[in-house]
Amino acid sequence: MSPMRSLEGIRQAAQHPLALALLDRLERPAAISDAQGCLVAMNAAFRAQASTLSSSHQNLTLVQGNLHDAQGRLLPMLVMLTRLDPGEEGGGDWHLLELVSRSVTLATLAERFAQLTTAGATLLQVELREQGGLLNRLGLEQIESIMNALERRLLACLPEGSSICRSRGERFIALVPGERTNAGLHEQARGWQKALSLPLLLMDRPVTPVLSIGLSRSPQDGARFELLLDSANRALISAHRQPKASICVAAPLEREQRQLRLLARPLAIALDQERLRLLYQPIVAMADQRIEGVEVLCRWEDPILGSVSPSDFIAVAEATEQINLLGSWLIDTVFAQVGPWLSMPQGLQYVSLNLSPLQLHHEGLIRVLRDGLERHGLNPGQIMLELTEDQNFDHNSGARERLLALDHLGFTLAMDDYGTGYSGLQRLHSLPFGAVKVDRCLIDAIETDRLQQAMLLGVVHLQNSVGMRVVIEGVERLEQRQTLLNLGCRLGQGFLFSKPIQAEQLDQLLKAA
Ligand code: C2E
Ligand code: CA
Ligand code: CA
Repeated sequence: MSPMRSLEGIRQAAQHPLALALLDRLERPAAISDAQGCLVAMNAAFRAQASTLSSSHQNLTLVQGNLHDAQGRLLPMLVMLTRLDPGEEGGGDWHLLELVSRSVTLATLAERFAQLTTAGATLLQVELREQGGLLNRLGLEQIESIMNALERRLLACLPEGSSICRSRGERFIALVPGERTNAGLHEQARGWQKALSLPLLLMDRPVTPVLSIGLSRSPQDGARFELLLDSANRALISAHRQPKASICVAAPLEREQRQLRLLARPLAIALDQERLRLLYQPIVAMADQRIEGVEVLCRWEDPILGSVSPSDFIAVAEATEQINLLGSWLIDTVFAQVGPWLSMPQGLQYVSLNLSPLQLHHEGLIRVLRDGLERHGLNPGQIMLELTEDQNFDHNSGARERLLALDHLGFTLAMDDYGTGYSGLQRLHSLPFGAVKVDRCLIDAIETDRLQQAMLLGVVHLQNSVGMRVVIEGVERLEQRQTLLNLGCRLGQGFLFSKPIQAEQLDQLLKAA
């Protein structure tokens, strides 16, 4: 097999309509290779699972393929090969590759959670820890062999009915059905940890895996899968903070309630006295740095608490249902301010606002937006509304309809933080999104990471083929910008271009242009 193609080669191949149409529709790990077996495009599930492979499967051809890691080292893998009908449109040389794995994707894990028939469940996040620089010295291939061994052990020690998913980096997420007491869970988890931490052989030398484990339980730590996942994630972070291998069980409600008690009243006062401030972060055409739009970001500087991070106070606003009040205030304040910027000759084309999922569930949202437009003489085409990728539009009655109504009214809907959740590009097709904001985690190593490059090409294709507005977030380095431009990305947002700035500064920038 020849190694992966040059960037230009990948780009041309990945733009093949058949390749992309196929990948976009697949939730399971899949990629497209050319006739030589070179990978030309892959979906997120493929990327996440590229290493957890098993071989035997009847009626399917297993071939040895090669994937290059960021350092140009080879990562051998087994892939299942299905030849497409050569009679199909342009299809003769295209192969659909699917990973054969006993593991499932995170989306499948979420599905299985929804279908559980047991009263409770435990979510387990297991991560391999750095041990005296060992992982840094090992090649990808060796780390993968440790991960494969760990996966086999995990499958062997978890109870019947458990599902495992290989997550980002050196991490597994497992769903274990059944109710457990706190003490029972601790004891069981110690057993799992012991089984996973037995020495294994790596190039004839024994290596003892050091693992952190984070656990959360349903329903107490989250009745919805996303919440449960988030709780286990936080527990894992606490486990990582311990000096050696450790297990932490989520205590999310406690912290959240403490935060709620601390922030709820001051936030209510700040809202009442209109003490929240707005900053604007430019969205620029990366080629010439021209400001095309801005994202509105909210700030709260409390006289006693100091500056509170938006992630924290937005969460409190959501929990105390002040989010609709905050949202309405923000919409009105922004609309009152942006008119001149949108109408000046070299001005903004659009202004982008973040919407919390709860706002979307609120009947009044559409009225607030419409009234705001009318009062300040704006048109909906100048407003982009950002919604996070992991929002559950399907199961919440009203939310989906409201999305469709907003689209119908002419607002541009943007999927925010693309790449941090677990849904694929197909999600973009099933809902009326006109824009995607790619999270910075998908571009943090874009200069060298060919998998990140390949993933980005899928999104760039949306930009080129259906005219979707694609904004890359968190661009910090010149080299990143250059690679992104080479890949065909047009719009960027990040500290390289500008931090979030005050209205007066934006005004000056726009006038100077
Ligand atoms: P977000 O929507 O993903 O906003 C982008 C965040 O990335 C902002 O953080 C921004 O300051 C930061 N950022 C921008 N460029 C760079 C970069 O080059 N490098 C790095 N490391 N970071 C960069 P911020 O302002 O702290 O906001 C955090 C989150 O809080 C936002 O994430 C958004 O989800 C939420 N948020 C902020 N304002 C509002 C609001 O008015 N309403 C709602 N519902 N959520 C808001
Ligand atoms: Ca945003
Ligand atoms: Ca974002």
